[in-house]
Amino acid sequence: QVKRSGKNAFRFFDPELNTHYRERITLENDLRLALERSEFELYYQPQISLKGKRVVGMEALLRWNHPTHGQIGPATFIPVAEEIGMIGDISHWVLERACGQLAQWRDAGFSDLRMSLNLSPHDFSRKDVVEMVTECVERHRLPSSQLELEITESMMMQDSAGVAAKVRAMRDAGLSVAIDDFGTGYSALAYLQKFPVSTLKIDRSFVRDLDGPSTNPIISAITGIARGFGLQLIAEGVERMEQAETLRALGCDIMQGYLFAHPAPAEQATAWLNVAPEI
Ligand code: C2E
Ligand code: CA
Ligand code: CA
Ligand code: CA
Repeated sequence: QVKRSGKNAFRFFDPELNTHYRERITLENDLRLALERSEFELYYQPQISLKGKRVVGMEALLRWNHPTHGQIGPATFIPVAEEIGMIGDISHWVLERACGQLAQWRDAGFSDLRMSLNLSPHDFSRKDVVEMVTECVERHRLPSSQLELEITESMMMQDSAGVAAKVRAMRDAGLSVAIDDFGTGYSALAYLQKFPVSTLKIDRSFVRDLDGPSTNPIISAITGIARGFGLQLIAEGVERMEQAETLRALGCDIMQGYLFAHPAPAEQATAWLNVAPEI
């Protein structure tokens, strides 16, 4: 880790470190310009009801179309954006774009679609995060229940910023809140009392292990929890038909994954609303 603590603090001793450092600075500078250069794009991955054979929701996933490096995934640049204090602006853009798209789909006749967004811990440390979301939803005249904010278990564990209170305020405002990657952190059941969420997303690491009709105890437990708390359940990372069938048999009907569709630009996503992706 290189620290830019002072003008002369960094010495160019290690050529490899130097290259690393310069690449990182270039990435940071490019990232700062990406918003005004309109290089961000939202991709959408459908959430499918297996029973209904239709798209019930879309998860918005951010992409950066870099002018020379091509497309960069969020796992690469979101952590950098968080470090350089850009995540707030990016999240604001994501929220605006996703609500705009949902409004467009509503106007095209798809009025009961859910849109899921990923928020970063930094967003939840904002005092006005709830207002930011409700303002956007209201401006686009969307039913708040159609917007779902995804939070992670790590956000629930460090509750210094009053995340629980914000989740409650979101739910009071009618918004949906999902716990992403459920089961991978310390998902103590107590959290489900404290954070009144609406949806659990079963992490793909559990789905990956599902082969054939053998019951996976973790997934059975999660479906039981969802039923007990009256929560919606979505399975992520469904790649094979056997996984989909086992999930369905265990009582999880809504799924997302490469078996159905890879995340894709708005135009392709719109086509899936008309004709659900084939398995
Ligand atoms: P996530 O929220 O857990 O999103 C699911 C990731 O799994 C996505 O990667 C998606 O493309 C991928 N995926 C979907 N189906 C399958 C499958 O069947 N198999 C496998 N192996 N992978 C699948 P992606 O788009 O690269 O996003 C990575 C992470 O970046 C997301 O994980 C999310 O935490 C974060 N992220 C994405 N968009 C945003 C955003 O707008 N804001 C913030 N703060 N974070 C974002
Ligand atoms: Ca997610
Ligand atoms: Ca996830
Ligand atoms: Ca994840």
